[in-house]
Amino acid sequence: MARQRIERLFELAGQEFDGHPDRSNRYVQLARQIGMRHNVRIPKELKRRMCRHCHSYLVPGSNAQVRLRGMYVVVTCLICERQMRYPY
Ligand SMILES: [Zn+2]
Repeated sequence: MARQRIERLFELAGQEFDGHPDRSNRYVQLARQIGMRHNVRIPKELKRRMCRHCHSYLVPGSNAQVRLRGMYVVVTCLICERQMRYPY
């Protein structure tokens, strides 16, 4: 139930990103709050769509830069300019 709401919020974040990136960030924030309140982890594939540091909704090629470094995918958030690494 909580997980479905989280997925739905990320979906909305994706839809709003073009015109209203600030709304996307709000949806991500809500998703995180739901996750914390219900003790539900944000699914791995959705976690990659947000910045671990500033919690912005990330879109590769727009506000995020994605690079392959050996065994890792390195995502740079262009909002706070910090990096996240994920195993490839
Ligand atoms: Zn960031």
